[in-house]
Amino acid sequence: MIKKSKQKQGLTVLTPENHFRFECRQSLKCYTRCCRDITIVLTPYDILRMKNGLHISSEKFLADYTVTMIGDAGLPVVILRMKDDDEKNCPFVTKHGCMIYQDRPWPCRIYPLQPESTKITETAGKEYYSVMDVPFCLGLQSDRSLTLKDWIKEQGVSVYQQMEAPFKKITTNESVSHNKITNKKIQEMYYMACYDLDRFRRFVLESTFLKRFELEPEAVEKIKEDDVELYHFAMKWLEYGLLGQQGLKIRPEVIKAKKTEVRP
Ligand code: SF4
Ligand code: SF4
Repeated sequence: MIKKSKQKQGLTVLTPENHFRFECRQSLKCYTRCCRDITIVLTPYDILRMKNGLHISSEKFLADYTVTMIGDAGLPVVILRMKDDDEKNCPFVTKHGCMIYQDRPWPCRIYPLQPESTKITETAGKEYYSVMDVPFCLGLQSDRSLTLKDWIKEQGVSVYQQMEAPFKKITTNESVSHNKITNKKIQEMYYMACYDLDRFRRFVLESTFLKRFELEPEAVEKIKEDDVELYHFAMKWLEYGLLGQQGLKIRPEVIKAKKTEVRP
């Protein structure tokens, strides 16, 4: 049976209308077996949802549950830290399932699928997935057949795709991916804007930021209260800083002062 489903599902690339077979149930012997010893790369929106679901700050979430590495492009990559027990369990798994189920990260939602993307599919804005080959996952032997489109809807993936778009725009930008960033200050600013949103909010509201950049008062009010607004603003700021896009305006008096500074 396993062999048959492997042959059938293998690494066949799925388009939205294609079917695959899967059903996860608490009664299965493998229940929560998939929530250990795995590498889950977290997106900024994953962290926003998880820290708010846990009612903790981004600083505490990052310190207690993540490790950070520097990726190929020189930018920080945040990974969910498994526990230090024999099985390397996810910190959020219980015998009843995921304790942050409503806010579980994107890879846990899309499982047992994985994205199959290339530069060509990304540029074309198309998404393809394949079914993962996980021998212990009994859900893959289910008779329940569903389309990729239905799975994405059922798992609430769409909002994650929408939220990830501005982040992806930055990370897949040619100038960012080809020119490895080695400047520690840029790495630190990127980490704060992407992942440490509560600290980024303080940076915007409590530093000289608002004296340097022109922001509508309503935008400032939204940033104070709303993490999603803050996240979008953070992406805009990174686009300005890393991609040179003109989404933010420097105050005229700051430009004038700079010009005076450089004059002999
Ligand atoms: S069926 Fe698969 S996804 Fe569900 S608990 Fe078992 S291993 Fe995990
Ligand atoms: S976050 Fe939840 S679903 Fe994802 S690995 Fe941990 S316990 Fe499992």
